[in-house]
Amino acid sequence: MHEGPVKVVVRHLFEQKSLFLVVAVRETFRYRLFSAEVDRPEAGMRIIDLRCPACGEELLLVVDSDGLLRTRRRTRLLTALIAAAVAVLSVLLGFGVEAAAGPIPIGSPLGVALMLGFLLGGLVAGVAGYSWWQYRGVRLSIGLGDTDGVHSLQDSWPLRRGDS
Ligand SMILES: [Zn+2]
Repeated sequence: MHEGPVKVVVRHLFEQKSLFLVVAVRETFRYRLFSAEVDRPEAGMRIIDLRCPACGEELLLVVDSDGLLRTRRRTRLLTALIAAAVAVLSVLLGFGVEAAAGPIPIGSPLGVALMLGFLLGGLVAGVAGYSWWQYRGVRLSIGLGDTDGVHSLQDSWPLRRGDS
């Protein structure tokens, strides 16, 4: 199934004011937003030049094909599920061993392994799960990251054919 074009909204931060109060910082951000419609490629990914209307800078937008988007989302979801399973198993194993053999000393190799399994599993599950939820297969490519402090991707969503 081809999902059709994607609408992206990019923002140019042109003013950021920090107001220091006694107990809090109030930050005001002002953005110039602009949007574009891009077609997903049939395969692989497509790099599109966007020109920011606020400053004229050229921005690279990377758009995944439907297939690549699905693969990447599946990888993230799978990572999250496996990591969550590791965390849950660590807890269950901990309970099981304690029930069978009494308390596990926290400094013992088993105690450390279970603790790490629980903490790292939970952490990875959270990060991968969030990234699965967020991943839309569209991102800005600026240097090594996805923002230069001025430009960032505000939002993107699929357009059904016929919508404008
Ligand atoms: Zn700009």
